[in-house]
Amino acid sequence: MTDIVIIGGGPAGISAALTAAQRGKTSVIITSAPEDSLLWKAEKIDNYPGLPGITGKDLIAVLTKHAEGVGVKFVRGKALSIIPMGNRFGVSVGMDFVDCGAVILATGVARGKAFPGEKEFLGAGVSYCATCDGMLYREKNIAVIGLSAEAPEEAEFLRSIGCNVEYFDGKRAKKYEIKGAERVESLTADGESYPVEGVFILRAGVAPDTLLPGLETDKGHIRADAEMATNIPGVFAAGDCIGAPYQVPKAAGEGNIAGISAARYVESRAGE
Ligand SMILES: Cc1cc2nc3c(=O)[nH]c(=O)nc-3n(C[C@H](O)[C@H](O)[C@H](O)COP(=O)(O)OP(=O)(O)OC[C@H]3O[C@@H](n4cnc5c(N)ncnc54)[C@H](O)[C@@H]3O)c2cc1C
Repeated sequence: MTDIVIIGGGPAGISAALTAAQRGKTSVIITSAPEDSLLWKAEKIDNYPGLPGITGKDLIAVLTKHAEGVGVKFVRGKALSIIPMGNRFGVSVGMDFVDCGAVILATGVARGKAFPGEKEFLGAGVSYCATCDGMLYREKNIAVIGLSAEAPEEAEFLRSIGCNVEYFDGKRAKKYEIKGAERVESLTADGESYPVEGVFILRAGVAPDTLLPGLETDKGHIRADAEMATNIPGVFAAGDCIGAPYQVPKAAGEGNIAGISAARYVESRAGE
């Protein structure tokens, strides 16, 4: 059992984990491939104190090393849902489940709007997780829209278990629409229709309100107060996911506050 699960291994999430460790709390960071982070693409960062001119890639590497050095555990994968369970939470990542006392969302900016039909058919042919749902589509025609670094590997997994995969990488089509009646029946990509029974949409992240139904958002950002608390007790948020300016020092500062608040929350619930 872990005190705090942090979703997102960018500056906000790592800063939160370091602060939690300083306060004697254990944490697990669930994060997608580092190359899916926006920070990975930054050629030069000149406004982070003490590390002038560092590349985004190197900054992720030093932050990760720092956190690992104080015992923070990393789980590579995509967090798919947060399930409140009384005074605890369960966070699902692939087929695994991490149990914790508080959650910090540090997921960065939400990228990409939902495709037409995506929300309507979620759980009725639309899936975000190849390893969780792949077996349901053996010997069936499916489409994979690969929008993350790990998507080609996940598509290969689906092929290996016998799914007939039509793969769309980020560049293959500009417009998608998922159509059907009770369940998915086809995917239209740039006007061309593909008859499929399933559509796997493999992004690096999941929209915050899909991750945790009931979480309040405002124009795509998670609403958080000055203590980084969201509207759901025990769930905190920090960094780009709560709003602009999208900057590394702001993300690290908010991560620090979220770490303090989550540690206090866990202490306040001890013994319950
Ligand atoms: C090209 C470029 C240059 C930039 N240059 C600068 C600069 O010079 N100075 C500056 O201050 N800022 C710069 N930025 C902005 C900076 O990168 C961000 O403000 C900062 O990285 C935000 O940190 P974060 O921790 O909030 O989110 P991120 O760094 O985006 O980290 C979030 C992580 O969470 C992961 N994630 C999301 N959802 C899930 C999920 N469901 N499960 C698992 N993992 C998930 C993401 O894949 C990502 O790895 C730049 C950005 C870009 C794109």
